[in-house]
Amino acid sequence: MTKKESVYFAKMRDFSFLLIYIIIMFTIFSCAGQSESDFNDDKKYESLRQQMVETQIIRRNITDQNVLKAMRTIPRHLFVSKRYQAEAYDDHPLPIADGQTISQPYIVAIMTELIQIDSSSKVLEIGTGSGYQAAVLGEISNSVYSIEIIQGLAERAEQLLDSLGYKSVQVRAGDGYKGWPEVGPFDAIIVTAAAPEIPQPLIDQLKIGGRMVIPVGESNQDLILITKNETGIVKKSVIPVRFVPMTGEILE
Ligand code: SAH
Repeated sequence: MTKKESVYFAKMRDFSFLLIYIIIMFTIFSCAGQSESDFNDDKKYESLRQQMVETQIIRRNITDQNVLKAMRTIPRHLFVSKRYQAEAYDDHPLPIADGQTISQPYIVAIMTELIQIDSSSKVLEIGTGSGYQAAVLGEISNSVYSIEIIQGLAERAEQLLDSLGYKSVQVRAGDGYKGWPEVGPFDAIIVTAAAPEIPQPLIDQLKIGGRMVIPVGESNQDLILITKNETGIVKKSVIPVRFVPMTGEILE
């Protein structure tokens, strides 16, 4: 190698080292920047979530430890669009796509407590919406079935629940009026859209001893708790509520 050539190779080597150094530093800084802001967001939402459970749920006398644990765990902000994420832990319902809503956290809590489920309960939800209520059920029970009448919502909720690892929740697009007879009867049924009357197929798919919660009414609705026994059903009105209406066959 001539002297000229070796100077040339030395320069090339220095240049390559410099390039590699720049790439490594760039990668380190961009990753650090990304994960730091994600980390800060996670911390912020974690704190809002714990506050939500303390001030909106425990203070209003919800005591079921499974419900409290589920709501302390689930990242509710991921169930709403970016523009509503900052409000996801506030004390009110929020809009989701297609003119529907995700219920107020307290309403999710009281409905879940009322149906008294544990890991072995088979649970049916009518009105998947964002999938948040289904996630709460899925944290507690090993077999949750949820039906959503709007195809796009059903698909989005299914994807989100899958990505968060809720293997115990199955989502189906369709009219929940007739329930899910292939997998019933259920220990518990939770209806999250307001019905003018209680759909008979859902009563039929409730086990003896099973519980169902459902908002009943049109503009004025009551949350009704139904328990089924050997001789029929017992209905109890719990609180006034406001849900989006149930659509499909119930209106025919
Ligand atoms: N549980 C939801 C909120 C539901 S809002 C959540 O946690 O986000 C009520 C949902 O019920 C809406 O998405 C609406 O499309 C759905 N719905 C209305 N009528 C229905 C029917 N007959 N069968 C299934 N879903 C229905």
